Amino acid sequence: MATERGILVLAHSYQDGFIQDAAHFVGDSLELARQAAQSEAEAICFCGVHFMAETAALLCPEAEVFVPDLDAGCSLADSCVAEDLARYQDHLESKLGKRPRTVAYINCTAAVKALSDIICTSGNAKAVVESLPPDDPILFVPDRHLGGWLNETTGREMELWDGACMVHELFSVETLRELQAAHPEAITLSHPECPKAVRDASDHVLGTAGMLKIAGNHEGATFLVGTEGNMLYRLKQVAPQNTYLSAPGASCACNLCPHMQLNTAAKLRAALDSKGPRVQVPAEVAGPARRALERMLDVV
Ligand code: SF4
Repeated sequence: MATERGILVLAHSYQDGFIQDAAHFVGDSLELARQAAQSEAEAICFCGVHFMAETAALLCPEAEVFVPDLDAGCSLADSCVAEDLARYQDHLESKLGKRPRTVAYINCTAAVKALSDIICTSGNAKAVVESLPPDDPILFVPDRHLGGWLNETTGREMELWDGACMVHELFSVETLRELQAAHPEAITLSHPECPKAVRDASDHVLGTAGMLKIAGNHEGATFLVGTEGNMLYRLKQVAPQNTYLSAPGASCACNLCPHMQLNTAAKLRAALDSKGPRVQVPAEVAGPARRALERMLDVV
């Protein structure tokens, strides 16, 4: 139905399997941003959360962008309000005698992107930070765990906004250690949005595209996966030759993002029927937000 009507359906890897199956393209934030930027579609149905649809609207301004559920938000994006960020940037400028560059993880609102110098995703964050002059102070928003991991891996001492993802924050190192003891042969993958103790107990810390790549390079391996639970469906689709176990445990639904879960099959069908609800970004925000995104796409 979508294809005949000229609608491009994009889905994030944290969406339920039936939504991933219905999409023309499934990917992480960077891959979906690139798909939107390259798209000539007249309409994009974005199955993910609100800030992702805003990103598609910024990068594909000619398209009508709509979502299955306008209420599908993000705890991490909500933790950084543009007005608060503007005040903190002013505060740091007076404290440091120089306005810091603001690097924003893509999981933030368009209004926060508009106040930022450059955007990054978990997959390209290290390259984005390393692209900035070494002596320039940096404020990293909104995820303190990803920011902490970047400080560790780049040697920078960025100021960190105190935000976190409600899903990754819940992964506990104790549960992970139990899983590792039960599966000593397993390779542990964790997302950089996880707390430091979980990251330190992992074999690899990487975004979802990196997880897919590493899984594709193994045959018959067992992976413990420290990210949103629906990523297991994607891993099984792309690299079915391996076994995947979800941290903190397959019987626990607390590793599912409640915001992503708002998108249901019925809402997707209704959205495709009506090409709505629409997601639009006001022009005064869209210009600077798009420039920050384009700077990222120029780096990687
Ligand atoms: S998994 Fe976390 S960061 Fe991703 S949409 Fe859900 S709350 Fe936001």
